[in-house]
Amino acid sequence: MECDFLIIGSGIAGLSFALRVAQLGSVVVVTKKNEVDSATNLAQGGIAAVLSKDDSKRDHIQDTLASGAGLCKEEVVDLVVDQGPERVRELISLGVDFVKDTGDSSGLNLGKEGGHSRRRVAHAHDFTGREIERALLEKVKQNPQIQILENHIAVDLLMIDKTRGAALYCAGAYVLDEKMTVEIYKAKVTTLCTGGTGKVYLYTTNPDIATGDGLAMAFRAGAVMANMEFVQFHPTCLYHPKAKNFLISEAVRGEGAILVDQNGIPFMEKYDNRKDLATRDTVARAIDKEMKESGVDCVFLDITHKDKDFVKERFPTIYGRCLEYGIDITHEYIPVVPAAHYMCGGVETDTWGRTSIEGLLALGETACTGLHGGNRLASNSLLEAVVFAERAYEYCAQHWTVISQRSIPQIEPWKAGEAQILNEEILINHNWDLIRRIMWNYVGIVRTVKRLKLAKRQMKGIFQEIEQHYRDYFVTANMIELRNIALVSLLIIESALTRRESRGLHFLADYPRTRDTFAHDTRFRRKKDGLLGEIDLC
Ligand SMILES: Cc1cc2nc3c(=O)[nH]c(=O)nc-3n(C[C@H](O)[C@H](O)[C@H](O)COP(=O)(O)OP(=O)(O)OC[C@H]3O[C@@H](n4cnc5c(N)ncnc54)[C@H](O)[C@@H]3O)c2cc1C
Repeated sequence: MECDFLIIGSGIAGLSFALRVAQLGSVVVVTKKNEVDSATNLAQGGIAAVLSKDDSKRDHIQDTLASGAGLCKEEVVDLVVDQGPERVRELISLGVDFVKDTGDSSGLNLGKEGGHSRRRVAHAHDFTGREIERALLEKVKQNPQIQILENHIAVDLLMIDKTRGAALYCAGAYVLDEKMTVEIYKAKVTTLCTGGTGKVYLYTTNPDIATGDGLAMAFRAGAVMANMEFVQFHPTCLYHPKAKNFLISEAVRGEGAILVDQNGIPFMEKYDNRKDLATRDTVARAIDKEMKESGVDCVFLDITHKDKDFVKERFPTIYGRCLEYGIDITHEYIPVVPAAHYMCGGVETDTWGRTSIEGLLALGETACTGLHGGNRLASNSLLEAVVFAERAYEYCAQHWTVISQRSIPQIEPWKAGEAQILNEEILINHNWDLIRRIMWNYVGIVRTVKRLKLAKRQMKGIFQEIEQHYRDYFVTANMIELRNIALVSLLIIESALTRRESRGLHFLADYPRTRDTFAHDTRFRRKKDGLLGEIDLC
């Protein structure tokens, strides 16, 4: 397979970029499951942008910086906030049906979420992501330049030695296809749009695809990574034995819901003067403390004081899903717990979406652009994905004469060597479970150096065992994902151990204060001549 643009992932980042670069050349989008299996499809709250006359770019910038705990790159925040309104209008022109409100100067019904000082979140009730994914897929399918391949999982990047040992460049990827064959996909530009890493943790709001594949592939290839200690835990995931990963959107608190303990007593005022609308890190830690102190399994969200019809109309998905589990949210409390939600760090990119490897871009949750710093502001991630898809396209368009001349040499086919068929899935499933429990128990919302060191020691052993399996047996999608969550877990632990302070989403109980000496990104790459999983700080 040979194309101009290989895009790995079919969420908002991959599809937005595909639609743009299809103006330049041929596009292949590989996606590891069904085309809609993505975090994008699950997004509820919406997309933040300055759309109303009651709002200002200065305020959106201010809110983003305040949430980012001193680590946002100001030029990136300015850029994203500035381009936000245009990108949202573009989504509307592509067919995204945001809820309207003729009473607002924007013509849209704008929601408010934690950390935002204004109403600025465009939404499609509580199924915004599904609506965006639908509209983008519809346009992609009408475009003859774009081919989407479902059930194709990228295994590793194709790295070419351009100058005999000096710089490497990316020329595509090895992809495991539906026939269980690893094929070579060559491309002039390869773009990682593989989403987040929530599956590293036992409890997560993320879909099953969120195994950090893009991060692991980029790290193995030698890319510079950043800020992987900053994992956002969403404060309110539904707590019910049958609900695997169902989110109760922040917008519910935005519309007046209150967090209460098992006695129905509100507790957020003890922790922050913004109460229930404090940023996610604060609310998640408050819930974690309440649960640990009282020994209860969950806390509760109370929206029973709001008009019944309003709740049903504003949150149809949440209302319907909770009802399926026997909870009528219009007159009963919703049981909730925090869960891993968003990776603020990732593959470091510049303002054009370029990674440190030539020929390799990263967009969406996989990228660390500098927008989120130490804590992402709610509803800024869909925005980041569309703004950077446009920026990356602009870069490719401006340099197309050079990029289109890139020639890709003959590439060695994938070698299975002496690999055997693995007929004991238990070897894989056991490690999946082990990793996710270690990460939840030792590398969660509140961390300590002792727990992190313990996690590192245990993870190293598991990681070596998985690498051995990877070499001994034929690759399967399950094995590829396990290998990736093991590596990503190690990288999160290494990053967390490096930052001896508490800042934003990273709370280290031994160092509860923010320290000026750490007012910088944690940047690292694969250790030269070291074992895979070891890092060199940059
Ligand atoms: C429940 C939930 C609610 C959210 N609500 C909001 C919200 O209201 N507002 C907001 O701004 N953000 C929200 N977020 C975050 C936001 O949805 C994500 O950050 C964003 O959608 C990520 O988009 P993406 O394109 O980077 O990745 P995704 O949408 O996750 O897409 C990743 C794609 O990559 C594919 N893929 C992964 N690995 C491979 C591989 N090895 N080979 C081939 N394909 C691969 C996947 O199959 C998928 O198609 C929410 C997230 C969740 C989980």
